[in-house]
Amino acid sequence: MSIALPSAVALDSRFARELPEMAVAWQAADAPEPRLLALDESLAVELGLDPDRLRGPDGVRLLVGAAVPAGATPVAQAYAGHQFGGYSPRLGDGRALLLGELVDGDGRLWDLHLKGSGRTPFARGGDGFAVVGPMLREYVVSRAMHALGVPTTRSLAVVATGRTVRRETALPGAVLARVAAGHLRVGSFQYARATGDLGLVRRLADHAIARHHPGVDGYLGLFDAVVSAQASLVARWMLVGFVHGVMNTDNMTISGETIDYGPCAFLDAFDPAAVYSSIDHGGRYAFGNQPAIAEWNLARLAEALLPLLHDDQERAVAVAVEALGRFRPQYNAAFSAGMAAKLGLPGGADLDAGLVDELLAVLRDGHVDFTSFFRTLSGVARGAAAPDLAGIGGWVARWRALGPDADAMDRVNPVYIPRNHLVEEALGAATDGDLAPFERLVEAVSAPFDERSGLERYAAPAPADFGAYRTFCGT
Ligand code: AMP
Ligand code: MG
Repeated sequence: MSIALPSAVALDSRFARELPEMAVAWQAADAPEPRLLALDESLAVELGLDPDRLRGPDGVRLLVGAAVPAGATPVAQAYAGHQFGGYSPRLGDGRALLLGELVDGDGRLWDLHLKGSGRTPFARGGDGFAVVGPMLREYVVSRAMHALGVPTTRSLAVVATGRTVRRETALPGAVLARVAAGHLRVGSFQYARATGDLGLVRRLADHAIARHHPGVDGYLGLFDAVVSAQASLVARWMLVGFVHGVMNTDNMTISGETIDYGPCAFLDAFDPAAVYSSIDHGGRYAFGNQPAIAEWNLARLAEALLPLLHDDQERAVAVAVEALGRFRPQYNAAFSAGMAAKLGLPGGADLDAGLVDELLAVLRDGHVDFTSFFRTLSGVARGAAAPDLAGIGGWVARWRALGPDADAMDRVNPVYIPRNHLVEEALGAATDGDLAPFERLVEAVSAPFDERSGLERYAAPAPADFGAYRTFCGT
């Protein structure tokens, strides 16, 4: 069945049209009793969609894929990927569909994508479904990331399907409607390259340039642009204490948006070795490893692009190695500028790297809550006593002598992040049918820099008895 979209917005099928070898036309599974759990109204409006109509029966049917807009061609996207370092030639959307591309008021294309919409030909052993808790987790964490100014896919809505899904226990099923500048991944290029069809790799690269990096100079320009976007993105993660948890090459975008919120978490105590994912036994995706892993993933992208970089393979490798070498300086510059801002200091080459390193060592050794520390520090800039921490006295004196700007600090250091204990509390209640804690958490993290009375518990570190937090990939 076809309906008109809940507003006069076109849904294009550009990916399906330009890259048919990587698109399998498919339909969402039926949702027996769809019920809207969350809707980002501001995002709907940005996209030119009417929130009231999305809330209505036709809107909800659209958001679970039950009603396909006229002219749309929903597809499962093919991609490959390195998962924890091991290559899988065929991953793809096992439980997701690209409904098509929305065109916003400025003519920009946005992927409208469903997750948890049923088995596709890429499902392998999976059931194709998703459950309420993890989809609400993606909703609230991606919303927080966006509010923090970190590039990310966005969550338009979560709809409970009315289906019971078997995990370790029986859980309520849900579909997430996700919006992104694009869902191309490093693994998309790995897939195209592995087909041996260079025409396909070139067409994919042309598609990526047109959608994400228009105006770059050729295919090396595309690679450079992805390197820059990822250097900047991962620096942002490190500055807000975000641990992605599963930085496989199929979970790294060409657009530079954070994607796939599975076993992700925000740091409580600052610790480069922090790992939250229950399946990351070796700590490959530990907080402090993220920049190095991003660089490793970009090397896989370079390999996939090699034949486009130069006809002579040796020259192509040399060009790629040189380009990849630009990741570290760009990452370091972005991190350093961000830390200067967090410390209320002018950025650039003026910032003494030793000052940052020394502070981070104090935070690590003292198991200091990463987020609240920087708000405490703006208080110190205004004249409050320094926190009682081993080794901080000399550091504070040096920092204060640089004249930090406390108000500028409060504009970049969040009060509210989706703290792990609050997320668990909210998702547990929502799974049992009470959405109030979830809605309150969304409200807090949607304006993260703006301290409000009544939200004190959303700013406080985890209670001591919360213990070693683990998230599970069983999403
Ligand atoms: P992720 O770790 O969520 O990025 O997923 C990795 C791969 O597993 C992707 O190809 C997903 O489509 C697939 N996948 C994850 N969960 C399921 C599921 N329940 N059913 C089918 N495929 C799944
Ligand atoms: Mg994924």
